[in-house]
Amino acid sequence: MLLKLTTTHQPATDLGYLLAKNPARVQSAELSFGQAHICYPEASAERCSLLLLLEVDPVALVRRGGDGDGGLTQYVNDRPYVASSFLAVALAQLFSSALAGRSRDRPELAATAIPLGVEIPVLRCGGDGQRLRDCFEPLGYTVEIQRLPLDPQFPEWGESPYFSLQLQTTARLSEVLSQLYVLLPAIDGDKHYYVGSDEVDKLVARGGDWLASHPQRDWILSAYLRRQRSLVGEALGKLLGTGETELEQASETEGSDEAALERRISLNDQRMAAIEEHLLRLQARSVLDVGCGEGRLLGRLLKQRSFERLLGIDVSSLALQRAAQRLRLEQLPARQRERIELAVGSLVYRDARMAGFDAACAIEVIEHIDAPRLAAFERSLFEFARPGAVLISTPNVEFNARFAGMRPGQLRHRDHRFEWTRAEFRDWATAVAQRHGYQVEFHPIGEVDPDLGPPTQLGIFVR
Ligand code: SAH
Repeated sequence: MLLKLTTTHQPATDLGYLLAKNPARVQSAELSFGQAHICYPEASAERCSLLLLLEVDPVALVRRGGDGDGGLTQYVNDRPYVASSFLAVALAQLFSSALAGRSRDRPELAATAIPLGVEIPVLRCGGDGQRLRDCFEPLGYTVEIQRLPLDPQFPEWGESPYFSLQLQTTARLSEVLSQLYVLLPAIDGDKHYYVGSDEVDKLVARGGDWLASHPQRDWILSAYLRRQRSLVGEALGKLLGTGETELEQASETEGSDEAALERRISLNDQRMAAIEEHLLRLQARSVLDVGCGEGRLLGRLLKQRSFERLLGIDVSSLALQRAAQRLRLEQLPARQRERIELAVGSLVYRDARMAGFDAACAIEVIEHIDAPRLAAFERSLFEFARPGAVLISTPNVEFNARFAGMRPGQLRHRDHRFEWTRAEFRDWATAVAQRHGYQVEFHPIGEVDPDLGPPTQLGIFVR
């Protein structure tokens, strides 16, 4: 199967730097399912094309113990020819840094929208190919498709279910690669590997923002996840989210080395670990988690015996249901079960259940509240609930420049109403502290960029 990527951005040969593949060399790589060859049929300053040829070896796949049916089709099939999940995996393995939006030699170019063309000579697609348009056009591509005859020598045999596809766009290379990574397997509809929960995370990582707002989103999720309803639900939840900042995850889970990938601690884990540490340092015994979402923080705190009483409040009952499942509340022994409670509630109303805690946390919550209602949130928390300490974390918008796949001005999550600079957060928090008789300190969470600051900013208020 073939894929051709072309740019006319000048000097066009910079495509080689972006893809980290030298245009002067033909390169080959062994993949688990066959061989990949890369060459540049055209490499001038005006126009440069990379060609990826992927040779899938069905016989080797059968020998390695695929889920073949024992019949002839496991040896003779369309898999070597059509763009499918094999191609997606090859893209991720061969161009992992480009997919992540990284480029050692041309970092600015990786972050720039450039004219890009994609040609895929054979793709399988049901119906009249309208689906191809429906998938790519909303993302800003100009789409040309051609239906291939079953056999060009015998036109009377009619048409095949195969199409050639040509796309043209002006976008960042990482966006185009991410979109191909998700859409090719979805369109093809046949995954060559087991689809489990890991796939949800990959989908959310690559899909990020463009998928959440794609008009064909539900179809894409369902096709990518091979119509497994529970996975589709999980993916949808993560995309639209109760607290998933998928762009953060996308940037963190890139890279082809799976083991290294797992070793890396996600920003979300770093955030939770930092909060836990501060709560321990503050010697809080009772903790209120407002906007607790799926209960990630509560799950951590529950493991520490020094936290005697935990209450999670969220406006979303769906998020709380997930939290209850995650925390296995039903299976907890009675003594544990007594330590924790989940309740539906809104943070912008005064709520007696929120009173009397040593500490309250609002982790990645304020940016979900409409700016005009922040004052109500402030009063219900600092004036009425009045915990001994308040921990509030929120994204640092300055750091967004470091996330691959984000457009300028784009927020990390589609439900975010705003994202603040360090100065904006500091001003707001300082004024809140003054109004309610607290002292506030600021702490970074995550790797601190010398110019842009940390990805997450944390304010700790104490009375
Ligand atoms: N703290 C969690 C979830 C953050 S996402 C974590 O870090 O994983 C933000 C959460 O705030 C969502 O679960 C959302 O349902 C909740 N939320 C947003 N506005 C709210 C409001 N007015 N009252 C209560 N919860 C709210």
